[in-house]
Amino acid sequence: MSKPRIVAIANQKGGVGKTTTAINLGAALAELGHSVVIIDLDSQGNASTGLGIPAEERVLTSFDLLATDETLEACLVSTEVENLRLVPSTSDLASADVQLSTTPGRTQLLRNKIADIQGIDFILIDCPPALGLLTLNGMVAAHSILVPLQAEFYALEGLSQLLTTVREVRQSANPDLRIEGILMTMSDNRNNLSQQVEADARNTLSDLVYKTVIPRNVRLSEAPSHAMPVLRYDTTSKGSNAYRSLAQEFLQRQLVTA
Ligand code: ADP
Ligand code: MG
Repeated sequence: MSKPRIVAIANQKGGVGKTTTAINLGAALAELGHSVVIIDLDSQGNASTGLGIPAEERVLTSFDLLATDETLEACLVSTEVENLRLVPSTSDLASADVQLSTTPGRTQLLRNKIADIQGIDFILIDCPPALGLLTLNGMVAAHSILVPLQAEFYALEGLSQLLTTVREVRQSANPDLRIEGILMTMSDNRNNLSQQVEADARNTLSDLVYKTVIPRNVRLSEAPSHAMPVLRYDTTSKGSNAYRSLAQEFLQRQLVTA
């Protein structure tokens, strides 16, 4: 059995599409028959809610995975989507930065739990909107990071701060951390600023930016309140097709770099 490809979905800015990407890229990969696990590493638990896991079913959570002896296997819950499982989170996780601040090896807690896992194809880590201990755990555990970027005025400045953190993680705990790709999200082709930012991102970052662009699509924003990925909620919507294209491009890149 092979080891999973571990991808942290990170951007310290909130509301840029991290959780939406974790859920829907995960669902698109699962739809293609891959075994996928999403780790909800945000105390807001949006990935858990969006995948239909109510609070009372979150018995063992990502907090337990980090802070106790519980294994990944023990913390997994099934979702309505075949091949897609989740480590849920609850608001407990909000205290993790403080509670774990003196734990030895505190940035490696997640890596210690998932580095030797077999029988899963992809682990997607849905990071919180901060560059704190949880996101560091994600980056230290991951092979690569996928960065959703909303095309707006300060987006590229935020990105350079994120890339500085990636360099720091490379110098310390994870020298092989790669950039999986930058994903333009909530794109609006009637908005000139959005188009300009996207053009700037492609000029400066060239091939790191996925060809696939996720459009602003109301079905994507409605799906979480129906507790399912958009691929199930409205399977032929623009949002669904965009995330299916992303999954294809993502898999294609795995082949190129394998
Ligand atoms: P993050 O995890 O980075 O904070 P989310 O994925 O939760 O961001 O997205 C923020 C909000 O925007 C959510 O309400 C989500 O449903 C909505 N959203 C995300 N992507 C899109 C999109 N492409 N089109 C429309 N709404 C979107
Ligand atoms: Mg989120």
